[in-house]
Amino acid sequence: MLNIVLFGPPGAGKGTQSENLIKKYGLLHIATGDLFRKHLGEGTELGKLAKSYMNAGNLVPDEVVIGMVEDKIKLNLDAKGFIFDGFPRTVNQAEALDVMMKKNGLIISGMIELEVPNDELKKRIKERAKVSGRVDDQDEDKINNRLKVYAEETLPVAGYYKQIEKYAKINGVGSINDIFGQIDTVVKAY
Ligand code: ADP
Repeated sequence: MLNIVLFGPPGAGKGTQSENLIKKYGLLHIATGDLFRKHLGEGTELGKLAKSYMNAGNLVPDEVVIGMVEDKIKLNLDAKGFIFDGFPRTVNQAEALDVMMKKNGLIISGMIELEVPNDELKKRIKERAKVSGRVDDQDEDKINNRLKVYAEETLPVAGYYKQIEKYAKINGVGSINDIFGQIDTVVKAY
């Protein structure tokens, strides 16, 4: 079973490359940002709780995210595999993911980091803002805050996977097809 963590800053192309992986390997997409936006749209309690964090570009508290992901895994144990996109975003979440995978007889195959410089990320997010309708894409301060949160709270997650030797890094600048080719080379070796 393939269980992939696709990692990288906002605007790195995780969503796009997740779609490619899903097409090729039939994996179930667990994108925590998308799940939260769905809750927001439906006005659920979880959505109400997450809203202020998301709109400011801050992280939703770990226990909320972890509970949501665990529910999603449990409901989909018949999946061919999972692709985690936007999760884990803290070392605490990474540790919790390992525990919940193990509890369900599963294991993470590896994490793949898409590396993209901040200038390019900002350009992409501003382009996306025109169509995404996302509050957190709209202004410079929020975008800068997300990049800061990423550097401070999320990047250490890469160290976690390096330590357990489940880490690969790919240059996320280039054509979508070329980047997917590089991702797929890593995945084929799992
Ligand atoms: P992006 O990668 O473009 O920042 P996402 O759609 O992955 O966007 O996430 C949007 C927002 O949802 C985040 O800024 C954060 O508030 C919340 N969020 C998503 N995933 C997590 C997570 N794993 N932990 C905490 N907050 C999260």
